[in-house]
Amino acid sequence: MAAHAGETARETGDFLCTKCHEKTHVTKGHKIPKCHNCGNDTFDERVHEPGNRSS
Ligand SMILES: [Zn+2]
Repeated sequence: MAAHAGETARETGDFLCTKCHEKTHVTKGHKIPKCHNCGNDTFDERVHEPGNRSS
């Protein structure tokens, strides 16, 4: 599931840049920043919260 810079993270987790695959950690309720490495604003969402399996 894709996420974009400026959106509020629904869950605490890691967001993987779709361009350079740099990982950005975002806490629940915080806005997702642009990739600090390449400035891309589209991410693949990787949530590692226990008990949150959305397959
Ligand atoms: Zn990037």
